[in-house]
Parts: sequence; C-alpha cells; structure tokens
Amino acid sequence: MKINRIVLSVSAAVLALTGCGSGSGDSGSGGGERLSVATSFYPLQHAAQQVGGDHVDVTNLTKPGAEPHDLELTPKQTLDATKADALVYLKDFQPSVDDASKEAGDAAFDVSPFARLDLEPAQHEDEGEGEGEGGDHEGHDHGSVDPHFWLDPTRYADVVDAIADRFAEIDPDHAADYRANAKAFTAELDTLDRDLEQGLSTCRSEDLVTGHSAFGYFADRYGFHQESVSGLSPDSEPSPSALADLIKHVKDEKIGTVYAETLVPADVAKTIARDSGAKVAVLDPIEGLTDESAGSDYVEIMRSNLATVRKGQGCS
Ligand SMILES: [Zn+2]
Repeated sequence: MKINRIVLSVSAAVLALTGCGSGSGDSGSGGGERLSVATSFYPLQHAAQQVGGDHVDVTNLTKPGAEPHDLELTPKQTLDATKADALVYLKDFQPSVDDASKEAGDAAFDVSPFARLDLEPAQHEDEGEGEGEGGDHEGHDHGSVDPHFWLDPTRYADVVDAIADRFAEIDPDHAADYRANAKAFTAELDTLDRDLEQGLSTCRSEDLVTGHSAFGYFADRYGFHQESVSGLSPDSEPSPSALADLIKHVKDEKIGTVYAETLVPADVAKTIARDSGAKVAVLDPIEGLTDESAGSDYVEIMRSNLATVRKGQGCS
C-alpha cells in the first residue's frame, strides 16, 4: 500500500519530467493511475473528493474528530503530504501544514487566493470599518484574517472551481471530468446559498453568539452580527471580563440562543446561557466530520445549521 504510493508518485514524477504524459493505453481496470491528493482539513477534503471523483485518492491530514486549528502533523503525515501529487491547503490556518507545503514544492496548492479572505475578526463591532484595502494583506500577521471561508457557500464554490482547474492542470486526461464534477457540485452550493438567503431573510435577532468565531463569512453573507465566545481559534479561553461583557450583551439584547459547537466542549456557552437565561444550541463550523456531526457531508450539515439558526434567531 505504502510502497504502491511511493512507486506511483515516483512514476508520476518521472512522467512529468520526461514530458511523455498522456500514457494512452494504461487506463486498465487496475485503477492505479489515480491522482494522490492530500488535503489539510475536511472542507478541502470534501471539495477534492467531489471534484476528483474516481480519479483521485484523497488523504485528509486532520483526522476525523480532531480539531484542525491545532493540528500537528506526524513525521509520516508530513512525508505523505509532501509526496502527494497535490497538497491542497489553506495558508496561515494550520502552521504545521504550512511547513509541509514548503517541502511539497509545486504540488502545494494554497486555496486562500480563491477564498476571498477579506474579513478581519472584529472583537467589538467597528461600524463602517474600511474594507476598501482588502486586496493584499502585507505581512500576514497570523490571526489577522478570518480563515473560515467555507461557511459561505459562494466562497466555497470559488475554491471548488480553483481545485478543478488545478486537477485539470496536473491531470489533463481527466480535465473534462474535473470541470463537470465541479460544475455539478457548485450548482448544489448555489441552491444551498439561495435556500440560506431565503430561510434567513427575516429573523427576530441578528446577533449570532457562537463558540469560536467561525461564522464571520456566514454572518456577513446572511445578515447577522457575530459575537464569539473565544475568538478565531477554539483554544483560546475568554477572560472573565470578556465573559461578563458577553453575558451582559446577551441579556441586554435579549438574545434567545447562544451556540456551542461540535468538536469543542460546550462549558462556556452553558455558563453564558445559565447566567443570561438564553438557550444553548449546537452549530457545526464544519471543521471536521464526526459521528456527532449533524449530517454526513458539507451540504447536509449546512442545511442542519440553517434549521438551527432559523430556530435560534427566530426566523420566519
Ligand atoms: Zn475555526
């Protein structure tokens, strides 16, 4: 298995070097010609699978049930990641994957240029903050840009298209399939986006109190203001004063529901709910898939999130 993969990627490298690609005849039933793809976390894994279909072998570096923000790659995972035909990742999201990408050379494919990462995490709302300069964030201070693009299906769709273009480039024999698969999947995302827009157009409360601030692009697209318990990464604990502020905010605004999330303990959300009289519901930031996920794939979970938010925010 392992040996197979090494042989495969070596032969792929040799083919690429000698430029004698198009290996016409060998589309035998062995199926040995699949593109090996490593992805850094679930939404990219799912996109790669949807686009690649039977032509790709996708390995996800964040194991099911793990939380991607604090991923540490094992030496073997790093090796697998750097040997794949494509390493699909989001720059500045998982430092250990950033490191592996440097060793992956041309196989490394950073989706961030396609994800429209133009939201800065707002601690307290700065109304009318200039969004004009979004273009190039010089310096990439880590944590300065919100990475959670996939919770906006339109941004996710752009990344799906970019992945299709990249696969088509590496594996031109199947370019038409990659593009067709991407078209089918983005059509599904389009429908999802319209359903979200419609389902969330009239809600009693626009304040979305989430576990960590994964829902910035979601809030931005569907007309909510996000306040999060723990900032951009689920690891950070809120300070007592930040927690007190949030509880006061929930009371003042008569917010009916605060959201905990899958993959992280709900303690803080429960504290806020207890002290403010709000309810707790679970929203899934779709950073990893588990048995507790509210659906079996991205679209199902987004639809379940839609139902949860409609109820929690009192949408009609
Ligand atoms: Zn996150």
